[in-house]
Amino acid sequence: MDDVIIIGAGPAGSTAARLLAEKGKSVRVLEKSSFPRKKPCGGAITSRALALLPPSFHDQVLSAPTFWTFRGRKGFRTIPTPRPFCYTVDRMTFDAWLAYQAQKSGAEIHFGTAVLAFAFDGEQYLVKTDQGYFQSRYLMGADGAKGISAKYLGLNRPKNGAAVEIEVSSALKADDINRVEINVSGYPWGYAWVIPHGSVANIGVGSFKAGKLPALKPLLQNYVKKTVAKWSSPSPILAHPLPYRTHFSPLAIHHGLLIGDAAGLMDGFSAEGIYSALYSAFAAVEVVDRALDKNTDVEDYNTVIRERLWAQLKPALKMSRLFYPLAGFWADWFLTHTDLLEEYLALTQGDSNYDQLLAKTENTLLAQLRLRPLTR
Ligand SMILES: Cc1cc2nc3c(=O)[nH]c(=O)nc-3n(C[C@H](O)[C@H](O)[C@H](O)COP(=O)(O)OP(=O)(O)OC[C@H]3O[C@@H](n4cnc5c(N)ncnc54)[C@H](O)[C@@H]3O)c2cc1C
Repeated sequence: MDDVIIIGAGPAGSTAARLLAEKGKSVRVLEKSSFPRKKPCGGAITSRALALLPPSFHDQVLSAPTFWTFRGRKGFRTIPTPRPFCYTVDRMTFDAWLAYQAQKSGAEIHFGTAVLAFAFDGEQYLVKTDQGYFQSRYLMGADGAKGISAKYLGLNRPKNGAAVEIEVSSALKADDINRVEINVSGYPWGYAWVIPHGSVANIGVGSFKAGKLPALKPLLQNYVKKTVAKWSSPSPILAHPLPYRTHFSPLAIHHGLLIGDAAGLMDGFSAEGIYSALYSAFAAVEVVDRALDKNTDVEDYNTVIRERLWAQLKPALKMSRLFYPLAGFWADWFLTHTDLLEEYLALTQGDSNYDQLLAKTENTLLAQLRLRPLTR
């Protein structure tokens, strides 16, 4: 029997597997796909996420853009960033590299093995896959937005927005290779992006609108036409859910817990999910490592995530609820307040946070209202 079974070998699962193996635990990852596999993603890794990756990560980097363009209805601002705004990766090779780091540390990964169901009998998990049965003392659900772990642990699933993306080779002009663009005008509860992967443009549209999904594909096709003049071998359009929580609810029960997208720990304003996937993997390993020694439950994980990560995600959601219903208005207003755009950039670099951005936005708005009183 293994100490821990992890379902899914995305950034969350492979990172948790590597950390557990480094601690000398026996860990088995069950991954339904054969790697390398495609995962729809902008592949933008922010500085705060970078700190949670092994140092050899730098070999994976395709671009490190130092310009950021924010586009609204009435124009745009391009702001240079003192450090790269993000580091971009191809998720196909990045995820395979992370899985290899876990294997190198001693984790066993079964690719092409889909988990169908699992149950806990009070002492161990029995996991049924399409390749047979496995047993473990602890279990981590890292099976992403479409996974089954939340259901079998009996924990609440997050809400789902959605995103569509396309990759266009040789699409970017020289100036654009070093620039990320965000466009917030005309996208329901979301935005469009262009993220450079070398000379390849990763272009997408995402929406946090839960429930009936807006038609994102035509919006993407329109945006692509406007953005990149030259087309060469565009990839097919891929769609994927954006799982995020609107309130905190337990993510651990007995000897099992959820990490990454399976837990719905995405930033509800920016859709950055890789940072939370890595962060929750570190937190889960800390808790499971302690529990393995004493054979206790892992419900401490709920407190750790609520106090450390949810404390960052909750104000992101507040920003989202403030910004997206009136995105056109806010975008134009932010365009005239570059200091607020810079505050957002500082946040993505780990030098500020949403509480500070919200406070600064509120103070700027109040000051402006006082300076321009209503006239008869
Ligand atoms: C279009 C788009 C663009 C995005 N852009 C960015 C970005 O630029 N930067 C950023 O930080 N975040 C971005 N995100 C979010 C980011 O992709 C996710 O948050 C991140 O992949 C979560 O990692 P994870 O390991 O939790 O899940 P995943 O990466 O989804 O991995 C889950 C793994 O579990 C496996 N699995 C699922 N079910 C089973 C099963 N039953 N049995 C076995 N294995 C199973 C899957 O095959 C998969 O390999 C984007 C998301 C989308 C949709």
